[in-house]
Amino acid sequence: MATGSKYWNPYLETMDLEKLRQVQLRKFQGIVAWGYERSPFYRRLYRQAGLEPGDIKTMEDVARVPKVDKAMLKTAQAGEPFPYGELLCLPLEEVVEFRQTSGTTGKPIYQADSWPDWEWWSEAWCYILWSQGYRPRDRVFLPFGYNIFVAFWAGHYAAEKIGCEVVPGGVLDTTARILKIQELKATAMMGTPTYLLNMADVARSRLGLDPAELTIEKITCAGEPGASIPGTKQRLEKAWGAKVFDHAGATEIGAWSYECAEQPGGLHVNEGLFLVEIEDLVTGQTITTPGRPGKMIITAFDRLAQPCLRFDSKDIIEWDSAPCPCGRTYRLIRGGVQGRADDITKVKGVLLSPSAIEAVVRGCAALSDEYEVVVERIAGQDRITLKVEPCAGQDCLGDDILGRLKDELRLETNLGYIIEVHRPGSLTRYEGKARRFKDLRQQH
Ligand SMILES: [Zn+2]
Repeated sequence: MATGSKYWNPYLETMDLEKLRQVQLRKFQGIVAWGYERSPFYRRLYRQAGLEPGDIKTMEDVARVPKVDKAMLKTAQAGEPFPYGELLCLPLEEVVEFRQTSGTTGKPIYQADSWPDWEWWSEAWCYILWSQGYRPRDRVFLPFGYNIFVAFWAGHYAAEKIGCEVVPGGVLDTTARILKIQELKATAMMGTPTYLLNMADVARSRLGLDPAELTIEKITCAGEPGASIPGTKQRLEKAWGAKVFDHAGATEIGAWSYECAEQPGGLHVNEGLFLVEIEDLVTGQTITTPGRPGKMIITAFDRLAQPCLRFDSKDIIEWDSAPCPCGRTYRLIRGGVQGRADDITKVKGVLLSPSAIEAVVRGCAALSDEYEVVVERIAGQDRITLKVEPCAGQDCLGDDILGRLKDELRLETNLGYIIEVHRPGSLTRYEGKARRFKDLRQQH
């Protein structure tokens, strides 16, 4: 949009806050009216709550609009027209893209997008890539499976829209992808932290290549919180000799946040395209002050085929207090997405977030990038086992390292762990999002 500017959209990204809130209110009113008029699901939901779109007059009224969650969306999709049901707000003929959620927390949601929606997806990704330094001179390699999951599809189109050259690494295997990056001297790529660490490992072990000596300068991560966890970010940056940036988005919502080039230790919310609210997990009150974590309730303003209005994302986030040195007025969420309300479980009566374990493991230089956590109930007692591997070339871990690992885990999570050391290379390797946290207590 603005080739000489460091902002993709200088007008919106640096808008003064009062004006930005007015824009958000107007857009929120518009999308609520759209859902009410076009979707039987939203109309019924709002009527049951005694709400008409005209009732929303100020930002304070936003909280009167009923929230929706995954289960409600899935139920609404049982109706006509197949397969989007009562969520569809445009004629089926106008749908051009099908994607679905990965279904890790229940049945998948089917997502319809029209052509303008798909352009909107790319536009949202342009904010991300531009802020992270993607420019027309870049050659961008995309090592992901191009399929029914949204993953980096919109990143592909956004890179093209910016003017980068895009290399789709779709069905190539990991080795072929690395060799293609080397041959074409790609300068940027996108992936999940898990897969990019795995790729670096394959480069070293199977190809005898140091990935840091390839030409990758910047990497955009998504799909897992890893790139906002300092230990994981450092491992990725060291492995690839590149700047690593985080981004969080979701199929039902869109690409709602980005880490800018200043790497302020958090993500900007794209407040021109989304309304993000943070809700206290216990009281349900809206949190507007920095430093108090809660779950994100989010609305996409401009997505029309299948809108997403006050969606309870279950992502745990908190506002940052400081403005970002980059000059954007879009607010920051500190430390990125801290986890999901679904993943935070009580173990021995203590609230445990899997991200806290990742931070400790990835901060320990003697361990490989892979790990797994298993929670079980044995004879009425919760037990957590952490499975780790030493770095390649090492057979075992010294007692001093194991002792330090246990101490740090206790310090960060207030829990004791059984540590199992596995042979290097023996734990499961993942291509996309990893499933490292296994709670087996229901099965016992
Ligand atoms: Zn910034």
